[in-house]
Amino acid sequence: MLERVRQDIGGLRQLTATSKRHWTSGRRIRREFLAAQAAGRKITLDDFGPPVPRPEGDEPVADLAPKTGLRPRKSHLMKLEAYPSTDYAFEYNNPPVSGNHINGLGEAEHRVAAPIFHTWKFGHPMGKLEFLFQGIRTRGEWVALLKRQWNTRRFTGEKASVQIPVDDAAEMTTTIKALTMDLGACMVGIAPLTDDMLTEELPLDYPFIISFGVEMDRDAALEAPSERAALTIQAEYRGTDRISAQVAQHIRDMGWDAEAAIHGFLQIPAAVEAGLGQLGKHGSMISKELGSMYRLGAVATNLPLVLDQPEDIGVDDFCAICSVCTTNCPPQAIFDTKQMIRGRERWYVDFDTCIPYFVENHGCGICIGVCPWSEPGRGEGFSLKMMARRAKLAARDEP
Ligand code: SF4
Ligand code: SF4
Repeated sequence: MLERVRQDIGGLRQLTATSKRHWTSGRRIRREFLAAQAAGRKITLDDFGPPVPRPEGDEPVADLAPKTGLRPRKSHLMKLEAYPSTDYAFEYNNPPVSGNHINGLGEAEHRVAAPIFHTWKFGHPMGKLEFLFQGIRTRGEWVALLKRQWNTRRFTGEKASVQIPVDDAAEMTTTIKALTMDLGACMVGIAPLTDDMLTEELPLDYPFIISFGVEMDRDAALEAPSERAALTIQAEYRGTDRISAQVAQHIRDMGWDAEAAIHGFLQIPAAVEAGLGQLGKHGSMISKELGSMYRLGAVATNLPLVLDQPEDIGVDDFCAICSVCTTNCPPQAIFDTKQMIRGRERWYVDFDTCIPYFVENHGCGICIGVCPWSEPGRGEGFSLKMMARRAKLAARDEP
């Protein structure tokens, strides 16, 4: 009981801080940004928010300009008549260090990821873009954010003093998965927690991750970027936060350690290891059942559980011959080939190119709406086709 009261007080403090920021420092940038957008001018981000570190030595500077080169397309699936322009209403006098550099693009050695965005740290190299993103929220988006933040108060907490013994990890896994699904998840799996999933700001130390997905509202997603899509995204993430908090609380009530792994946690490597799908060229997950139409959440725990396995459903083969997301991405941020990121070769979205478009439009997500796997009922067939194609190619190459 005392623990719940302590969590509620912490939650109220956070909501007060967010509201204060929204109606004080965020107000000026919102007003000036909207005026610049209406007049076809640009604000200079250097004038807003706290100072950010300048690039040092040979650190590369962020190139935030949209790319040109591909013949852009607009998928008939997307409901907007045209994608918003890449002529942004902001610019930098002194651009920060490249976000791709922070992310480890081109680094052959493995290391834990550094925080990059949604950090709420306005002194971070990407702090001015973050300041703009948070500042230009509409009233509806701000209320949605507060509702979401309220759920975070139960992400961590004290566990019960008496621990319920677990004699059968398989049975406990079934119970926890059923609970996660009952709370609103549409898929759930268990992965070992590895440092591929961690960032410097969230050094979790648990053996297991419960990774789950919550189905997205496809109609709203196909309107992105728009305020309705942005509000729906917030509502969906509110769902993942609520489920994570409740599952973690349930485990703590059994006397085991658990915390919601949301902020500063890399959801995609966990979801891949838990067998929830594979990473697509657009930098998001793809599953046979939902394509990219699901949001991820996770809980880290030491409760004894049985691991799931990653599943190869043929996404790599498909992405190698598909370019729907690359040609639909308005600023052309999606690399067509895999890149080396902190010692792992994988699909990668150019952070410096994507994030200005994402910020200017209060979020984006066109790339996941247009992905063919996201069309209902297509994924299973794509997967079968890719596997058959791979088997055929392997048979042909056999001596
Ligand atoms: S749109 Fe095509 S290339 Fe992009 S993630 Fe989907 S399947 Fe892969
Ligand atoms: S969210 Fe996707 S479509 Fe939008 S800018 Fe980023 S990569 Fe491009």
